[in-house]
Amino acid sequence: MRTIEPTTNIKKLAIMGGTFDPIHIGHLMTAEEVRNEFGIDQVVFIPTGQPPHKKGKRVTDSEHRYLMSVLATVENPSFHVSRIEIDRPGMTYTVDTIKEIKKLYAPDTKIYFITGADAVHEILTWNRVDELMKICEFVAVTRPGYKRRQLKGKVDELKQSYECRVHYLEVPALAISSSDIRERVRKDKPIKYLVTEAVEKYIQKFELYSDNK
Ligand code: ATP
Ligand code: MG
Repeated sequence: MRTIEPTTNIKKLAIMGGTFDPIHIGHLMTAEEVRNEFGIDQVVFIPTGQPPHKKGKRVTDSEHRYLMSVLATVENPSFHVSRIEIDRPGMTYTVDTIKEIKKLYAPDTKIYFITGADAVHEILTWNRVDELMKICEFVAVTRPGYKRRQLKGKVDELKQSYECRVHYLEVPALAISSSDIRERVRKDKPIKYLVTEAVEKYIQKFELYSDNK
């Protein structure tokens, strides 16, 4: 696997997976909050290839999603983007990705997997979830539109079902989603301040999300 992420002297690593179609400031703020709260040395954003749960749904070319992620994270020295999923043909499962990533770091590197409230609801349906729970800790973050109490309940349920560490973290509420951004572009509404400036320019340059694409 190709990698350009520095992998030495990393005690705590956080992974944030997503379609990132496009990456927005909700993703960045969440990752930064987790980094600060848990004393994370490095956050790796992993754009999905053809995501299993979005099969059939149109997802922007992975190269565009990857490049926008790189542009969005360039100013944060702790943020990196991995090509691991987009370079692997076929469907990818989170557990395999994390195992692959784990090999690049020292054996005692602690791995935190960041998931928004919506994704937490899906975890139990993921492939080989028990295996996944053994190799990383989960950080479940709040997200507008998803009830906090429900999220806390789900976190407790996960803690009981699996002998693993699941953390609950309240992050500033940013009611931003990639779907909403795509919709705004289609409707010619501004996306300024919802994505970084470079991502906004990238979307304009390649005419992403407009009607005729
Ligand atoms: P889409 O609308 O296309 O599903 P999205 O905004 O949900 O896009 P994803 O790439 O699906 O973005 O999400 C990646 C991860 O980021 C998920 O764990 C998701 O829950 C989390 N996330 C996305 N937006 C926010 C937000 N505003 N606040 C907190 N977490 C978020
Ligand atoms: Mg989503």
